[in-house]
Amino acid sequence: MARSRAKRKKRPRSIKPVEVKPTTDCRAPRSRTAAPDTFQISAASARSAVIAPSQSGRHRAIVLGLVQLLIVAHVVLWWLSQRYGWWGGYTLTPIEPSEAAETSAEGVINAGFLFFFAALVSTMVFGRWFCGWGCHVVLLQDLCGWLMKRLGVRPKPFRTRWLPLGALGLALYLYGWPLLERALVDLGWLAQELPPWQARLHLTKPDFWATFPDWWLAIPFLFISGFATVYFLGAKGFCTYGCPYGAFFAPLDKLAPGRI
Ligand code: SF4
Repeated sequence: MARSRAKRKKRPRSIKPVEVKPTTDCRAPRSRTAAPDTFQISAASARSAVIAPSQSGRHRAIVLGLVQLLIVAHVVLWWLSQRYGWWGGYTLTPIEPSEAAETSAEGVINAGFLFFFAALVSTMVFGRWFCGWGCHVVLLQDLCGWLMKRLGVRPKPFRTRWLPLGALGLALYLYGWPLLERALVDLGWLAQELPPWQARLHLTKPDFWATFPDWWLAIPFLFISGFATVYFLGAKGFCTYGCPYGAFFAPLDKLAPGRI
């Protein structure tokens, strides 16, 4: 009896706050209901834990904001170099992985190729750090998702088994097609004039915007890859089903021994 009273009087164990971090993993969700940025916590720890607000989300937002500022600074410096003739009107070529398509097509080693190469190699070591901490599109998606939530718009993502092939198709078109096209021309199966393929360093140029679309194309694209993609494909829909770089990052991430 005395023993059971002592049992009843036992003081409750103190409950430690547990920090729950949102995943920055952009791979396809394992189930239809689990979005890539779902908070995951086991049932046992949920019973014994008080959830404290995550710090990493705030840090990530700050870092991604700085990335946007760096992009704007690059464009402004180019504009000033054009207007005032600084550095002979030249600026660094875009630090954008899509620029590596020029390397496939003509052998031009530009800043975009070097950046993409470094991102791929480091992904093999640290995982998809770039997707969580360096990509300007992920901020756009997060921002659109947040705005839609504030406006009470609920995304209605749909899935088909072919959808994940979209990112792979884009990657093959961007980096593989120029190589295949050249091979077909060399074999005489395609009648076309191509500039010679010659490996050469090309880190600055005066026409910074030459490989980017005009504003009338860029603004609808931002709308599509932001709001429309989040609405129809989910919070990280562009990452999972539309990003050609993700098609490279995903398999390399599996090799990574570390995580950032
Ligand atoms: S998958 Fe593509 S769009 Fe998504 S975060 Fe990674 S690089 Fe950016």
